Amino acid sequence: MSERVTNWAGNVVFGARRLHRPSSVDQVRSLVASGGPLRVLGSGHSFNRMADTTGDLVSLAGLPRVVEVSADRTSVRIDGGIRYGELAVALEKEGLALHNTASLPHISVAGAVATATHGSGVRHANLATAVSGLEFISGTGDLVTLSRDSSDLAGAVVGLGAPGVVTALTLDVVPSFALRQYVYDTVPRASISEHLPEMLADGYSVSLFTDWTGMDANMAWLKRAEPMSGPWFGATPADGPRHPVPGRPAQNSTDQSGEPGPWHTRLPHFRMEFTPSSGAELQSEWHVAAVDGLAAIDAVASIRARVAPVLQVCEIRAIAADELWLSPNYQRDSVALHFTWIADTDAVLPVVASVEEVLEPLHPRPHWGKVFTMAPPSVRAAFPRFGDFQDLVRRYDPSGVFRNRWLDELL
Ligand SMILES: Cc1cc2nc3c(=O)[nH]c(=O)nc-3n(C[C@H](O)[C@H](O)[C@H](O)COP(=O)(O)OP(=O)(O)OC[C@H]3O[C@@H](n4cnc5c(N)ncnc54)[C@H](O)[C@@H]3O)c2cc1C
Repeated sequence: MSERVTNWAGNVVFGARRLHRPSSVDQVRSLVASGGPLRVLGSGHSFNRMADTTGDLVSLAGLPRVVEVSADRTSVRIDGGIRYGELAVALEKEGLALHNTASLPHISVAGAVATATHGSGVRHANLATAVSGLEFISGTGDLVTLSRDSSDLAGAVVGLGAPGVVTALTLDVVPSFALRQYVYDTVPRASISEHLPEMLADGYSVSLFTDWTGMDANMAWLKRAEPMSGPWFGATPADGPRHPVPGRPAQNSTDQSGEPGPWHTRLPHFRMEFTPSSGAELQSEWHVAAVDGLAAIDAVASIRARVAPVLQVCEIRAIAADELWLSPNYQRDSVALHFTWIADTDAVLPVVASVEEVLEPLHPRPHWGKVFTMAPPSVRAAFPRFGDFQDLVRRYDPSGVFRNRWLDELL
C-alpha cells in the first residue's frame, strides 16, 4: 500500500496491501468475491489490530448514505459506513433519537456495534442492542439478512468483523428527548464506597472520572432530564465547563450548563467538530458485574501508584445487561472501568497486565476495541457463548476470508 494508513490513535499501522473505498454494495461484493484476506476499516477508532489485514482493507465511508425511517417510526435502516454524528443529526430532524451514545459521535455505527461500544446508564444497554436487523456479505459472497426472528442475530451483531462485511443495519429508535448535563468536582471516596450504585443510577447517564492520583474521583458527569442544584453526594458543582482529561480544552466537550438540549448534544462527552478525548492516547476497558463495581474500584486503587503515572483519566460507567453473545454485558448488569492511557505502548502494556491481574477474581470482560493482554483462552472463557460464536463464524465464513492474525489467535 503506497499510502500509510493508521488507526485514529496512530498506534496501529495497517499492513494491508491495498485500501479500497467502494461506492456501492456491488463493488463490496466483488471485493469479497476475490477471496480475501479482507477486513473492513470503520472509522479506525479501535486501539488494537482487530481491523488489520495483510490483504485488502475496505472502507465503507464512500457508500451512499442511507437513513430510512420505518413507517411506524420505531426503527431506522442505515448504511454500513455512516457515523453516529451524521445519523444523529438526521434522526433529530425526524424527531427521533437513539437510546444512548458513546462518549464521541465520530465513530461509525457498524464498527461501534461490532465491538459492543457503549455509553453509560444503569437502564441502558450497549449500542449494539439497538440493532434489530443486520445485512452483511458473508465469506461465501452471499448477502445475508438477519432480523430478531433469527437466533443468529444475537451472535452476529457483536461480530468483530468476522461473519462478514456489514453493508446495512436496522436500529431501534425512540422519540427525541432532551437532557441536561451537569459536572461536579471532587467526589469523595467515602461517598463512592457507600453509594456507588445510587450514584450510577442518579441520571440517564452517569460517569465518574478519576486520574488515580488520589482516592477521591476528580469529577462526576451527569446527563439527566431533571434539573439539579447544590452538592451531589458531597461533590461540588463545577464552576465552569470541564474536559474529562485534566488540562485539555473544555470547548471540545458538550454543553454542561444544565440547560436542556437534544439528546445527541448532551449524551456524548465530545463535540463532533473537535478532537475527542486527548488525541494522543491508548485506551483499555474491562467490564465486571455491577455488584462487583466497588470491588473493581478497590482493586485498581490497590495499584494506583502503578496506574497513575501512565494514566490520563479513568472513567467508571454502568451498562445494562443484554443477550448478545459477545457483549461484555451478556446477561450481566455491568460496571465498566475505562482507562485513557498515555500514548506509550511499552510503558502502558505492563500496567494493563497489572490491572487485569487485580481484576481477575472479578471475571472481567475486555472491551473488544481496546488494548488488553488477557490470553485468548481467558478471553474465550469470559464469554459464555464463545463456542457458539465460533460455530457461527465457521458457517458464514467457512474459508476464512475475513480472518486476520488477531482473529486467528482469538478464535
Ligand atoms: C476517543 C475515543 C473514545 C471512545 N469512546 C468510547 C466509548 O465511549 N464507549 C465505548 O464503548 N467505546 C469507545 N471507544 C472505542 C470505540 O467505540 C470502538 O473502538 C469502536 O469499534 C470504534 O468504531 P470504528 O468504526 O472506529 O471501528 P474500527 O476500529 O474501524 O473497527 C472495529 C472493528 O469493526 C470491524 N468493522 C467496522 N466496520 C465494519 C463493517 N461495516 N462490517 C464488518 N466489520 C466492520 C472492523 O473490521 C474491526 O474489526 C472510543 C474510542 C476512541 C478513539
